[in-house]
Amino acid sequence: MAAYLDNAATTKPCAECIDAMTDALRNTYGNPSSLHRKGLEAQLVVDAARKQVAAALSCEPERILFTSGATESNNLAIFGTAGAYGKRRRKMVVTAVEHASVRAAYDRLEEQGFTVVRVAPNTAGELNAEAFLSEIDENTCLASMMLVNNETGAVLPVRRTFYAAKKKYPQLITHCDAVQGFLKIGCTVNELEADLISISAHKIHGAKGAGALYIRRGIRLTPLLYGGEQEQKLRPGTESVPLIAGFGAAAAMMRKTLSARTERVTQLRNEAIRQLSAIEGVAIHQPGTCSPYILSAAVKGLRAETLLHFLAEREVYVSSGSACSKGKPSGVLQAFRIPNDLADSTIRISFCAENTAYDIKCLAEGIAAAQQQLIHKR
Ligand code: PMP
Repeated sequence: MAAYLDNAATTKPCAECIDAMTDALRNTYGNPSSLHRKGLEAQLVVDAARKQVAAALSCEPERILFTSGATESNNLAIFGTAGAYGKRRRKMVVTAVEHASVRAAYDRLEEQGFTVVRVAPNTAGELNAEAFLSEIDENTCLASMMLVNNETGAVLPVRRTFYAAKKKYPQLITHCDAVQGFLKIGCTVNELEADLISISAHKIHGAKGAGALYIRRGIRLTPLLYGGEQEQKLRPGTESVPLIAGFGAAAAMMRKTLSARTERVTQLRNEAIRQLSAIEGVAIHQPGTCSPYILSAAVKGLRAETLLHFLAEREVYVSSGSACSKGKPSGVLQAFRIPNDLADSTIRISFCAENTAYDIKCLAEGIAAAQQQLIHKR
């Protein structure tokens, strides 16, 4: 039986998502923009999903814009803000540990002449709210801070930082990539104090290819795409009704089961920490407060890719660093002050409530076997 412990990369679609998608594919195949009944039926499915996603963020449905995923949401948030507000205010402040889809967007803005300040965690590996705030001034257009780091699971002080920043600079736009926290840790609009929030369906047992951007009322963005009038003209193109329906169904399922899931995942993570700590040569990284869904650990003397392939042979699936970087180091672990040699040996173990104690046992046994066969036999 395979132990899938790579849920931060993607999750298995839930039955509710598959049922909603299948129903939309079979029955609600109209174009939501069409004026006849088939079109209206499709529009109603999109509206219902929008309500489900909005309920999960505790906001009004009109504030939710459906996208193709969080990569697009992040790009729209960043380029859309720069386009609408960046003529006079040319400075941007962002953490140094963001996902590639945020990092690369800011790199591009820098090439276009914006000043981008990247704030790294302190020597203890924690992102300090005051250090971030001290970089924001009246020329700052946009500030981005992710909620949960996708490589380490570190929870960043989003609300505290954005609340204080907006109090001092009300014109500042705040953006949070909440992908790894959405429906996992507290992540409502009030809990984040962000003007823009990016989320993704496939990290919450929805399907790949759907995401959303929360846009606070009154915030203007320039679009990335031009075309029809869909999604408030900000995201033209015929809506993917099945993907959106699946996203809504997954969000509703996760919302209903949130506390039981968190409890279960916390137990699994604690058990993983207990078993891995008992293995000599395993170092667990816990930069400050961490999400229970992600565990970052290094197995000294083994390169992460070597260990990952060894575990995969035993049907235990984890990631080396971030799944998006395909084995290429992103520098994020180093920014969290994890020394280079440990960073090269770091794997990411990420849970969902469907994981079992047996999965953890397979992981611990797999790591011990890897040490035995790949290190001790050298
Ligand atoms: N942000 C974070 C923190 C992520 O973990 C991911 C997925 N790896 C993304 C953004 C991109 O999401 P998507 O796959 O929906 O484009």
